[in-house]
Amino acid sequence: MISSPNFDARPCPVDMLVLHYTGMQSAAAALARLCDPAAKVSSHYVVDEDGTVHALVEEDRRAWHAGVSYWRGDVGLNDRSIGIEIVNPGHEWGYRAFPAAQMAAVAELCRGIVARHGVPARNVVAHSDIAPDRKQDPGELFDWRYMAAAGVGVWTDEFTESGGAEADLAAIGYDMALKLRDVVTAFQRHFLPDAVSGAVCARTAGRAASVARLIGQR
Ligand SMILES: [Zn+2]
Repeated sequence: MISSPNFDARPCPVDMLVLHYTGMQSAAAALARLCDPAAKVSSHYVVDEDGTVHALVEEDRRAWHAGVSYWRGDVGLNDRSIGIEIVNPGHEWGYRAFPAAQMAAVAELCRGIVARHGVPARNVVAHSDIAPDRKQDPGELFDWRYMAAAGVGVWTDEFTESGGAEADLAAIGYDMALKLRDVVTAFQRHFLPDAVSGAVCARTAGRAASVARLIGQR
């Protein structure tokens, strides 16, 4: 049983779930860092590639995983979120597919969190969604379609006629004060992972319109 000393009191109830990758060369290195008082970072859970789940911080405490962040008008999202670190070397150290056993464990863990806290599907996000200018995790190899099929988060395969992506990206929850290219890249990593370019193509605009409509914001 591993636990992290890096937490404090929650100022508000949980209504978000933030998914990360560890972005380190090994699970052991990631666990050590997330439990190191000097690092001042943590997450509630770490899910290893074989599906092992480590619970580092109690859900009713605030873990320190999101950093400077924005979603749907809220900032400082550690206050209101559960954070899960999914073991993967990430783009820096050899980004690779998330194994099936790991995905199954992540989905089961997320299903429980969403049920316990009543987290809305639109508030199940990637770290890159809430910090597009700084973060790319868990990245375009993370299977959000699989997660949605398991009852976690939002996914659609549709493309809806769009009058322009920006209004839809704002409606979904992105911080439009950031560079559009960064926001579009984050959106694509999550919702159009075969077309991560940072450019607003017709498919990107169409998918953004579909997601916004699906979550009832357009
Ligand atoms: Zn992260």
